[in-house]
Amino acid sequence: MRQHPRSKVRRVAQRGHYDRETIHAILDASLIAHVSFADPEGQPFVIPMLYAREGDSLYLHGSIASRLLKSVGSGIATCLCVTLIDGLVLARSHFHHSMNYRSVVAFGKATPVKDSAEKSAIFARFVDALIPGRAQESRAADRNELNATALLRFDIEEASAKIRTGDPKDDPADRELPLWAGIVPVVQKYGEAITAQDALPGTAVPPSVLSLLARQS
Ligand SMILES: Cc1cc2nc3c(=O)[nH]c(=O)nc-3n(C[C@H](O)[C@H](O)[C@H](O)COP(=O)(O)OP(=O)(O)OC[C@H]3O[C@@H](n4cnc5c(N)ncnc54)[C@H](O)[C@@H]3O)c2cc1C
Repeated sequence: MRQHPRSKVRRVAQRGHYDRETIHAILDASLIAHVSFADPEGQPFVIPMLYAREGDSLYLHGSIASRLLKSVGSGIATCLCVTLIDGLVLARSHFHHSMNYRSVVAFGKATPVKDSAEKSAIFARFVDALIPGRAQESRAADRNELNATALLRFDIEEASAKIRTGDPKDDPADRELPLWAGIVPVVQKYGEAITAQDALPGTAVPPSVLSLLARQS
C-alpha cells in the first residue's frame, strides 16, 4: 500500500494511522463497507456492502444486474469507508460532543473475478467473514448461483485509518461547570440464535454459531 497526499489525515492529524496492521484490524472487525463511486455524468453514490478481506484486497459481490458492481467493476476510481463506533463522547458543551471510533478510508480500483472455482472459494470466504466456520456448515454455490453473482476484487492502493479514543475535549473554563461529562461505550453484541421456522425438526444450532456466542460471553 503506498501513501499519497489524498489519503493523509489532515484534520486532527494525530488520529491518523497508516500501518497495515491497524488498517487490517479495523477492516476485519467490521462487516460492512460504504462503497462510493461516480457515474459517467459525475453523480456520486455511496452504497453499503458486505465484504471479505484477503491481504490488501477486499472482495465485493452482488447481483450481475447491480449498477454498483457494473460501474465499479469497469475499473473506475473507487473509494470505500469502514466505520466502527466505540463510544458516545458527551461533553459539557454542545460543541465538544463527539464519538470514539475507528475508521478506514481506502482508495483503489476493482476488477471482476470470473473463474468459477475462484468465485466459489471466495463466496465461502464471505460466509466465513460473517461467522468463522459457517461455510463448511452450509451448501456451496451451484453453477446457476455462480453465474448470477458478480464478484469484484477491490485492490487497496492507499488507505488511512482514523481513531478517536478517550475523554471529551472540553474547554478549560467549561470544566468548572457542574455538568456531567464522559463516555458511554457502544458494544456490538449478538443475541441468542433463533432457529428458522421452516428448519427440519431437531436441527441443532451449529458449532459456528455456538462459538460466536461463547466468544462474546
Ligand atoms: C463515526 C464518525 C463520526 C464522525 N463525525 C464527524 C462529524 O460529525 N463532523 C466532522 O467534522 N467529522 C466527523 N468525523 C470525522 C470525519 O470522518 C473526518 O475525519 C473529518 O470530518 C475531517 O474530514 P476532512 O475531509 O476535512 O479530512 P482530511 O483530514 O482533510 O481528510 C484527508 C484524508 O484523510 C483521510 N481521512 C479523513 N477522515 C478519515 C476517517 N474518519 N477515517 C479514515 N481516514 C480518514 C482520507 O483519506 C481523506 O481523504 C467522524 C468520523 C467518524 C468515524
